[in-house]
Amino acid sequence: MSRKPAIIGAMDSEIAMYLEHGEVKAEHKWHEFVFYEMNLKGVDCIVSKSGIGKVMSAMVCQHLIDTYAPTEIIFTGVAGALNTNLDIGDVVVSKDCMQHDIDGRALGFPRGTILFSDKSLFEADDELHDLAMASHVDGHRIYSGRILTGDQFFTHKDIEDHAYLTTDMAGDCIEMEGGSIGLVCAENNVPFVIVRTISDKADGSAAEDFSKLHHLVAGNSYSIVSQMLPKL
Ligand code: SAH
Repeated sequence: MSRKPAIIGAMDSEIAMYLEHGEVKAEHKWHEFVFYEMNLKGVDCIVSKSGIGKVMSAMVCQHLIDTYAPTEIIFTGVAGALNTNLDIGDVVVSKDCMQHDIDGRALGFPRGTILFSDKSLFEADDELHDLAMASHVDGHRIYSGRILTGDQFFTHKDIEDHAYLTTDMAGDCIEMEGGSIGLVCAENNVPFVIVRTISDKADGSAAEDFSKLHHLVAGNSYSIVSQMLPKL
């Protein structure tokens, strides 16, 4: 079966390079979202910007699946580092992802688990994960890890309040869309991977670093995805 991947980014800066380097064949609108049918590196794919957060990304992901029947979903973007070994510009490829802000502990469910279910960790597809890991970015590491997702931009001035992100949840980086993409893909049985370049360290300077750097570092995620596409 020929492959037709869908690629989602949350912000213009995360999809700009796809639109620049690929050939756009058609554009479709659905509500405020635009879906670009395009050819990139010889591969027909659909590229879209979701906007920020779990709800926006879930809407776009489900619409993509229902309308275009992609063979896989690849998320491309930036994230804050939790793992202190990671530097700005390094890339985290999801081994798995989880919503860190779903919290039913008062009802006996562990943090990160969707209440009254056993759904918590969403595992990336092995082939997509391994293809991303086999890519190369000059001067930066590509790291296989756990992505934590929630509807907050994390600045960790008060790290001790959020120690569970690294101790209980073993997160390597933190962002706002991966866990909802993972959930929608798991429900629809569609393979996925999340590719996130570190734009900040989710610390006291995160807002400043993110604002300065997200345009620049988003290119590392693009570079990895563009190396993956011809190998699908
Ligand atoms: N300034 C942007 C909002 C950015 S929110 C605007 O006005 O549109 C941050 C985006 O980058 C999200 O898509 C999230 O997935 C990712 N991200 C990067 N660093 C993050 C951090 N420290 N905490 C949470 N999300 C982060």
